[in-house]
Amino acid sequence: MKLDSGKQEQDLRLEIRQFLDSSLPENLAKKVRLGQAITKADQVQWTRLLNDQGWAAPHWPEEYGGTGWNVIQRQIFDNECRAAHAPVLSGFGFNMLGPAIIKYGTTQQKQKFLPPILTADQWWCQGYSEPQAGSDLASLKTTAEKDGDNYVVNGSKIWTSAAEIADWIFCLVRTDSSAKPQRGISFLLIDMNTPGISITPLYAFNGVRLWNQVFFEDVRVPIENRLGEENQGWSVAKNLLGNERLMVSRVAENKRMFSIVKDVLLQQCSTDLFGAEKDTLLEKVHTLEIRLNALEVSNSRLLQQSVAGEQLGAEPSMLKLKGSQLVQAMDEILFELIAYAAIPFPDGPESATGRVTGINEMPVFADYTENIASNLFHHRGYTIAGGSTEIQYNIISKQVLGL
Ligand SMILES: Cc1cc2nc3c(=O)[nH]c(=O)nc-3n(C[C@H](O)[C@H](O)[C@H](O)COP(=O)(O)OP(=O)(O)OC[C@H]3O[C@@H](n4cnc5c(N)ncnc54)[C@H](O)[C@@H]3O)c2cc1C
Repeated sequence: MKLDSGKQEQDLRLEIRQFLDSSLPENLAKKVRLGQAITKADQVQWTRLLNDQGWAAPHWPEEYGGTGWNVIQRQIFDNECRAAHAPVLSGFGFNMLGPAIIKYGTTQQKQKFLPPILTADQWWCQGYSEPQAGSDLASLKTTAEKDGDNYVVNGSKIWTSAAEIADWIFCLVRTDSSAKPQRGISFLLIDMNTPGISITPLYAFNGVRLWNQVFFEDVRVPIENRLGEENQGWSVAKNLLGNERLMVSRVAENKRMFSIVKDVLLQQCSTDLFGAEKDTLLEKVHTLEIRLNALEVSNSRLLQQSVAGEQLGAEPSMLKLKGSQLVQAMDEILFELIAYAAIPFPDGPESATGRVTGINEMPVFADYTENIASNLFHHRGYTIAGGSTEIQYNIISKQVLGL
């Protein structure tokens, strides 16, 4: 089952490929290929190049600056961008908030917030999780009480990625403590420069600042910054997933990683570095390829069902599970493959984000060797982010197996 079996899809694929050939800056593609950190400035540059082409928000309707593409066309776009090692745009504005504003926003909110997302002039972060509310998000406790034309927000959000570079945060807050948990929640858009907001960094075990805790102390938020009706924030948040539920397979990311696995294999095999272990390693790589093909076919089947208007149930949970597990399996095989090569010793000063900035020598093997271990650990987060593995198992066992 192929995504681009029709002429229209093949033409689109070629058009995207030509655009990437001519417009994707080499230095950005190199950073992505090497697994290096993509900075805000890099993201701004690539967002604006895509936006000039009208492709920064492929999934938004055309009237708001999107393309109006269906999920199959979007998957083709993703596949091509990943294969060319294009940076992935920040998802908070484009994938999460933008579609929610398009669906629930007032005219004024659409005019105020959508254009600066497209031009990368306004950066968002997501304030959902709290210290005692993660998988069980509906138990969140941050409150917003009405006072004149404002809500007064108190509480804290945790694991907030990119809060340190965001201009705004979209938050789920409790506006009615007496209602059932899901019924008393509202969705607020909060300017990060509002007095009463403070941010504490949270570091991953390797010293990199991956998240933040954001504290709200009597933060005044104009009522006009509420998205959707009061106490209907849960519906906004659930709907915000919408079609995005289908774009969770990480097929494009896995294909990109598999191309690196193949590169490493080719180089290593030519030097006969593996010796007697070669056959075992080759078998593992073939198994990965079969898993990748199975994921891609399942994903294509579901996308086609969705485009045909069929109602989907718990299938995206399976894609999320399989896609994230496959990325981790790719990391593990890459790690195993490069174990035969020496890698440089980090000896540079640490940057503000905790990244080591210098190495003592160039890698003796493939240039991306340096970041393979770091990615292996970073991608462990895929087990949790976007709904943990156990929660996906729960959904599948209830909705598919009827347990
Ligand atoms: C890389 C990364 C980025 C993130 N970025 C953001 C962000 O920008 N904004 C934001 O709001 N949040 C963010 N999060 C937080 C994320 O949404 C939560 O970590 C997630 O919802 C899980 O919540 P928790 O950490 O409180 O774990 P818990 O919900 O406490 O879960 C702990 C463990 O118990 C398991 N568990 C929980 N409930 C059940 C159950 N009913 N049955 C079986 N097992 C269960 C879980 O699977 C997990 O293994 C991020 C997380 C990661 C890893």
